[in-house]
Parts: sequence; C-alpha cells; structure tokens
Amino acid sequence: MEFDTIAAISTPMGEGAIAIVRLSGSDAISIADQIFRSPGAKALSNQLTHTIHYGHLIEPTTGDVVEEVMLSLMKGPKTFTREDVVEINCHGGIVTVNQVLQLVLRHGARLAEPGEFTKRAFLNGRIDLSQAEAVMDLIRAKTDRAMNVALGQMDGKLSRLIATLRQALLETLAQVEVNIDYPEYDDVEEMTLPMIIEKSTWVKNEIERLLQTSMQGKILREGLSTVIIGRPNVGKSSLLNSLVQENKAIVTEVAGTTRDIIEEYVNVRGVPLKLVDTAGIRETEDIVERIGVERSRQVLKQADLILLVLNHSDELTIEDERLFEAIHGMDFIVVINKTDLEKKIDTQRVQELSGNRKIVTTSLLQEEGVDQLEEAIASLFFEGSLDSNDLTYVSNARHIALLNQAKHTIEDAINAAQAAVPIDMIQIDVTRTWEILGEITGDTVEESLIDQLFSQFCLGK
Ligand code: GDP
Repeated sequence: MEFDTIAAISTPMGEGAIAIVRLSGSDAISIADQIFRSPGAKALSNQLTHTIHYGHLIEPTTGDVVEEVMLSLMKGPKTFTREDVVEINCHGGIVTVNQVLQLVLRHGARLAEPGEFTKRAFLNGRIDLSQAEAVMDLIRAKTDRAMNVALGQMDGKLSRLIATLRQALLETLAQVEVNIDYPEYDDVEEMTLPMIIEKSTWVKNEIERLLQTSMQGKILREGLSTVIIGRPNVGKSSLLNSLVQENKAIVTEVAGTTRDIIEEYVNVRGVPLKLVDTAGIRETEDIVERIGVERSRQVLKQADLILLVLNHSDELTIEDERLFEAIHGMDFIVVINKTDLEKKIDTQRVQELSGNRKIVTTSLLQEEGVDQLEEAIASLFFEGSLDSNDLTYVSNARHIALLNQAKHTIEDAINAAQAAVPIDMIQIDVTRTWEILGEITGDTVEESLIDQLFSQFCLGK
C-alpha cells in the first residue's frame, strides 16, 4: 500500500544528548534530499540503503543552516513500516528538535498521529495486531520480566499459538462438512459429535492455560497493586520506606480524576509492586472504624496484595481481628513488626487468623526481616507457574477479554455436542470461536477498532 509521508519526534520530550525525528512514506527520501546538505556527497536517493550520513539541515528557501545532524537512510521494504524511512538524529532539546520537525513538515511531510508508524507496519503486513500491541507494552514495561513478556509477544509467540488453535477449529469445521457431505456410515452424528467434542475440548484447555498465565502478565505490566494496612503506629510507613529504599523506585504520576496520585513502583525480585502513596496508606489506618467493614472491603478488593502489619509488642486488638475479617479470602501476608521489643502478641492466634498464609516477622527499626518479606512476596507471585520459560503470556486486557469470550463460545459448542444438538447449530459456535480468536491477531477486526487501538500509542511510535 502507498501512503503519504508522515513525520514525528520519536524520542521523549525533554533534554537529552540526541533526539530523533522520524519520517516514513514514499516521499521520505525526497523530502530529506531537499533539506539535507553533505559536502561532496551524492543525493540521498542515490545512496545505499541502511547507511548513515553526516551533514547539515538547511532551509532551502533562504539557505540558512538549521541543525548539524546524522541522518539514517533506510529504504523499504526492510524497515519498521516497510516504507522508506529516514531518521534524523539531531541535538536534544525541545527547541532544536521542534525546528527540525517544523522543517520537514514545511517540505511535504504530515505530522503523524499517535501510533501511526506502528499502524503502518500493521497495515503493510509486517506485524500482526498482537505484535503491534506488544510494541506498546514494551514502551510501558516496568521490569525486565515484563519486558521479556512483551518481547516474546512481539516475536509472535502468542500469534503462533492463536494460529494453531484457529487451524484446529478450521479443520474441525472442514471435517464436519466432509462427514455431512460424504457419510460413510449411516449415522453421521455418531462419528462427528465425538470428534467435535475432542477437538473443542483441546482448544478450550489451551485457552484456559493462556488465561491462567494472563493474570501474571497483567501484573508484570501494570504492577501488583499493593496496600499496606494496620493499626496506627505499627510501622506501615516504615515498611513502605524500607521497600522503596531497598528497591529501585520508579515514581510515576498518574492523572487521577480529582487529584494527581503518586504511585510508587518498586521492583521486588522481578515482581513490580505498585505501592499506594502515603496518603492512601494514611487513609487505611482507621479504615475499618471510619468507613465501616463493608466499605473497607470494597476499597481493599481493588488490591492484588495486602500487607497486614501487626505489633509484636501489643496484644491483638479487636481492630486487628476486624482487619483480618476484612481481607478474608484475599492474597495477604502478615507482617509482625517490632520484634526488638518485648513480645505481647499471641502468635498462635495470629496463625489461626492467617490460615495457611505466610507470616513474616520484622524489626524495621533494626532493618531485620525485610529480606524474608521480599522472598514471601516473590514466591507468592511466582509459585511454580512462572518458572517455566515456554509459556506464552497474555498481558493485554483486550486479549484477555477475547480469550474469555472464546472460552465461552467453545464451551457452548462442547455442551451442544454433548447434548446432541443439530450439527449446524454447533458449527455456529465453533465458527464464532474461530472469529473471536482471529480478533486477537487482527485477522478479523473492524477498521474502527484498529484506529482506536493505534491511537493509544505514543506519538512517534
Ligand atoms: P505507621 O503509623 O503504622 O505508619 O507507623 P510508623 O512507620 O510511622 O511507625 C510508628 C513508630 O514505630 C515510629 O516511631 C517508628 O520509628 C517505630 N517503629 C517502626 N518499626 C519499628 C520496629 O521494628 N521496632 C521499634 N522499636 N519501633 C519501630
């Protein structure tokens, strides 16, 4: 396909040693030739592909020098978008890079929409939709593990698995047709139904396996939302501080509806924790008394992991017991803090209240026990399932929703086959499953969805 030539700043806004303005499209090279001068060198259109050139950008109408640059020349189709691509490496800094962008826009390029480079890669058939989404995940990835998941997906691991499932469904549908059209036996259903059940069950199991890994995928990308609760003065702030200090904290500002919430991301042995800000923690101090057990349950429900802090040197109070009630059934770790002080807590009762949950003892004052807590967090998360490397992770909310839909439609097919419903009804469910799975890779998606997806990308990607 031929599109117009787009341009955008492809590096983050702000001060940096270099910044890159990227051009893609059939006029990318001729636009660059108008504004680039390298003494004694041939025009870019006569240069070899995948080469780098030193020179100056000039305003051709006045001859004024705009910038000293390095220019990468990449002729299609062996490029990210499969089109001709020119990347102008200029000095970092908001003013310079904007001047360069303005210059290329004045000479025939159009400002790219967010995600438009990746969209072209998709439209030109270089990557499928799940791979395009992986590019986005890669930009957002917060830990090495999350990055590996995104890289695996970009590499097409998920796409290949989905393709295998769709192929199996297609073969099933074909086989059904053959059985109906050329019955070797009198009773077509007798041989067709078991085959549908067998194949569909296999597909269903594979989908379930993918969904099982999807939760971890989401967490790897977005961080395990973690809330520290406990009575006043047990050491919640101290715990937050030591987790942040020991682990590299990445502070991200997320625009909230009423105020800006600061979320602290810490990387605990490969598990990204999204710790709520201290204001959030202060709110949970007397959460049970202030807003009642019902409401506090709802607040806590949004957390993936709860750290319940108790005081080793205090007897358990009714408040502590209420906190246990409030987090019943959730993933939590009990932290008994202040072990440097005299013991007054009834550990047996704590064990009873905790069920088989992990209990860690700490003295945050003496910096003891945080290692064990980190280990408990990591093992809770990685319990067996994440160890094996050959799993294909699903980390994208859209993929998870589609996989859930596909699981339901294939279950409908299995149930219908078991109830010996007429075969053409079952075919509808199998076909629907095939279509839904195709939406993950973009084989069966509508134009509007594609536009919406790509608009979520950063500018310049
Ligand atoms: P929060 O109200 O639950 O956030 O508790 P803080 O973290 O503010 O701690 C309350 C007080 O307990 C502070 O004076 C801390 O220095 C102290 N503290 C925290 N951890 C320990 C500990 O392990 N041992 C002792 N002795 N004091 C601690």
